[in-house]
Amino acid sequence: MTILGQDIKYGKTILNLDIAKLHTGTPLDVPVIIERAKKPGPTILLTAGIHGNEINGIEIVRQIIQKKYNVPQQGTIICMPVVNVFGFINQERKFPDGRDLNRVFPGGKKGSLAARFAHAIMTQIIPHIDYCIDYHTGGGQRFNYSQVRIDSTYPKTLELAKVFGSKFIVNSPILEKSFRKSVSLLGKPIILFEGGKTLDLDRIVTHRAIEGTLSVLHHLGCRTQKEELKSIARIPQHYITQSTWVRSPKSGMYRSFTKLGTFVEKKQILGSVSDPFGGKEKSVKAPNAGYIICQNHAPVVNQGDALFHISEEVQTL
Ligand SMILES: [Zn+2]
Repeated sequence: MTILGQDIKYGKTILNLDIAKLHTGTPLDVPVIIERAKKPGPTILLTAGIHGNEINGIEIVRQIIQKKYNVPQQGTIICMPVVNVFGFINQERKFPDGRDLNRVFPGGKKGSLAARFAHAIMTQIIPHIDYCIDYHTGGGQRFNYSQVRIDSTYPKTLELAKVFGSKFIVNSPILEKSFRKSVSLLGKPIILFEGGKTLDLDRIVTHRAIEGTLSVLHHLGCRTQKEELKSIARIPQHYITQSTWVRSPKSGMYRSFTKLGTFVEKKQILGSVSDPFGGKEKSVKAPNAGYIICQNHAPVVNQGDALFHISEEVQTL
């Protein structure tokens, strides 16, 4: 195995994906932490921080490395805890050139800075891997209940999502030019973990994601983790094949009356929006019965802002 021109020996190797320099001459180094076992097996890639302000994902991969859960008994585990290092420094979603890294894949050698970086990942890292877990959070103040997103047109991803064991599996068609699309087109199963919101660390979310990851690593034969997996409570999983957003009926101050992750009935009042001058409050009602898998934490919202993500069609697995 040769990655970034370096022969990967057994044990730990730390490489830097060095693509370009910023205007200050500061190199754009992205650490790639590789652990390889003597016994052959699959290669799993764990990526976080493609969006530099999605801190939960970075924390999940950091803990996996710190607890040595990335040391396989078979195969190789590659961790990239902070893919968009400069976005992370600036606490921003985007790349330093203003682009969303997750919308420029597979990139190109002569494209924008983000596109060149995407190209480097696709040519230097992805050819070596068999599976990928990519960690994200909701955008802005939208807080996602821990969930795994898959595309049902890639059946292997549903199998991995079941093994991950999160309460919700969400069918989410793959966006064009996303990292997930480029990896999927190569026939390599990739699942997305989504939990929490940007610029926030949530211990319940990170804990759930680490448990799920351990379960997948165990399933793929990378690590036997009987001890760590013992404490994982197996819960019923809900596979959401269709979902919709409940949007704010007006601009104003917003309060939610709904607990994230719970089942609500049709027309149930989920929250309310009102002007700041003591005028009439407007209720936000559930358009159908379903599970609330994301809710906005913003105190002030605009008309049409996404307040709740609710399931429409669900299969209980
Ligand atoms: Zn993201």
